[in-house]
Amino acid sequence: EELYGVRRWGAGYFSIGDNGNIQIAPNHRLPEVTIDMQEVVDEIIAEGIQLPAVIRFHDILRSQVEILNETFANTIEDASYGGKYVGVFPIKVNQMREVVEEIIDAGEPYNYGLEAGSKPELMAVLAYNENPNALTILNGYKDEDYLTLALLGRQLRRKMIIVIEKYSELEMLIPLARKLGVEPMIGLRSKMMVRSSGKWAGSSGDRAKFGLSITEILNIIELLKKEDMLHCAKLLHFHIGSQLSDIRKVKEAVSEAARLYAKLVQLDVPLEYLDIGGGLGIDYDGTSSTTDSSRNYSTDEYVADVVYGVKQICDLEKVPHPNLVSESGRAITAHHSCVVTNIVGEIKNTGAKYDTSATNGEHILVSNMRELTTAEELHPQEKYNDAASFKQSAYEAFKLGILSLDEMAKLDTMYWQILAEIHSSIDRDSFVFQELEELEDMLASQYLCNFSIFQSAADTWAIGQVLPIVPISRLNEQPEVRCSIVDITCDSDGKLSKYIEGTEISDNIPMHTLRKGEHYHVGMFLTGAYQDVMGDMHNLFGRLTEVHIYCHDDEPGDFYIEEVVPGTAAEKVLETMQYNTDYMAKTVKKSIDREVRKGHIAPREGVRWTDYYEKCLAGSTYLKV
Ligand code: PLP
Repeated sequence: EELYGVRRWGAGYFSIGDNGNIQIAPNHRLPEVTIDMQEVVDEIIAEGIQLPAVIRFHDILRSQVEILNETFANTIEDASYGGKYVGVFPIKVNQMREVVEEIIDAGEPYNYGLEAGSKPELMAVLAYNENPNALTILNGYKDEDYLTLALLGRQLRRKMIIVIEKYSELEMLIPLARKLGVEPMIGLRSKMMVRSSGKWAGSSGDRAKFGLSITEILNIIELLKKEDMLHCAKLLHFHIGSQLSDIRKVKEAVSEAARLYAKLVQLDVPLEYLDIGGGLGIDYDGTSSTTDSSRNYSTDEYVADVVYGVKQICDLEKVPHPNLVSESGRAITAHHSCVVTNIVGEIKNTGAKYDTSATNGEHILVSNMRELTTAEELHPQEKYNDAASFKQSAYEAFKLGILSLDEMAKLDTMYWQILAEIHSSIDRDSFVFQELEELEDMLASQYLCNFSIFQSAADTWAIGQVLPIVPISRLNEQPEVRCSIVDITCDSDGKLSKYIEGTEISDNIPMHTLRKGEHYHVGMFLTGAYQDVMGDMHNLFGRLTEVHIYCHDDEPGDFYIEEVVPGTAAEKVLETMQYNTDYMAKTVKKSIDREVRKGHIAPREGVRWTDYYEKCLAGSTYLKV
């Protein structure tokens, strides 16, 4: 098994080189051309950029757009399918302007469009999706402004489809369209009966937040007929949830939706498009299975199931094949970005040492623990039980004022020494030790990592999503330490410890021992979907500096930094919380001046303190190491 399962989750983009560094093959058409991740990080540091940083590989983004579009086009051709594929990228998955621009540019040959789910997203797609042959799909709940902006898009001759989520939206749209004299393109979002599985199962079924029941769809059709607007109904939409892990749910949803599409067409609803929403999953944990962080199918299989599934039902029902739309977001963006940072320290229970030699009159609990350190004849299980019991008694005695601080420090040092010895003496294959897992957890180090989970990996905290976290070099050395990765927020939840070994999930991540004076860089991968944009400023840690990497077309394997987007400075983060940083700087200066006047601080020193405070306000929110 390859270390960290890199190839399993790497989707052809990530692997380990002979030199032990992560290698990236960003262009799917040139899989043999790789760039060395450590070289990328070295260049970033040489440019004076402080870690942590988000690295975006724009060529990966382009590759994913091409793969999805070409897979659909090829399957459609192989299947002699009658419609076309006209996909859209849902910008909520990553609204960064540079990401959206790259996707639009890479998708132009395929007329790949955009999807918006809110008013501000609609404003962005109006400005960025100018291709009149590409679709703009408008989801989410809508007010009059939302609908008016959508009609503006129609005036600009864009294929803007307003997807109706609720009957009342149509009641609002009809008079508005009449008043403005604009003919809308209308989509109907169906509330699906199929129950999907995984973290987003709530997106389908009777209690789903979005979509129209069959009854509501029929009522809408009646209303459209009455208003002489049935010809505006162009698209049938569904979305049964993100990160669909089981292909059987995709197949089920496709048959349900294709049947509904066919029945509606038979009722003379002139639908031209079937929109299958998002859901195409990512193999975050590399298990290719139905865990919440994986998927049991490939993109080829997903696309084939959609194309052939729709075709079969339409042929049976004798209706034309619709054009196919998908709204894959995660699958387009997840691979292209990662967070690179450094380990800044180690928190270890066995780390602190104290002189444990015997002293006259020491408490019996201390002597007992000392005897245990040399009790070689004792069974490890018994030794473990005794040590735990002495430690508990010592704690009780300390609370009653019986044990001194010196005695507690001795006891503690010996306790951890005993646990470490027990652990190293256990032969896992021949010996059953009931608390082995507990012991390993207690002894595991915590690597302190210069980032905030709440800013950079929100889903790991919020919904237990697994993201690969891997050192970017030394991968030709076996990692010796098992640890959890803790972030620099003041929150015990700021922790990553899930690791997938083959198909097993373990509670500690293997890492290498840290070497003095040497940086240990780790990468958190597959963060390009949702993580990039959903993070918050817990503890006032701001957005990370971003580095955009492109490959040289004419020099295979070479890369360049195309753009650096600075991270949020401390003053900007403070300002979003309503602080006036000019006022803060003035107040601190006033306090310093007061101490200067009193003679507590020398005038020259006072100036230095003032400058220093201002420099920190303009600086990064993360640790400078
Ligand atoms: N379309 C709609 C309506 C969604 O709600 C979502 C996300 O849940 C998506 C598309 C994107 O889904 P995914 O990122 O799984 O492709």
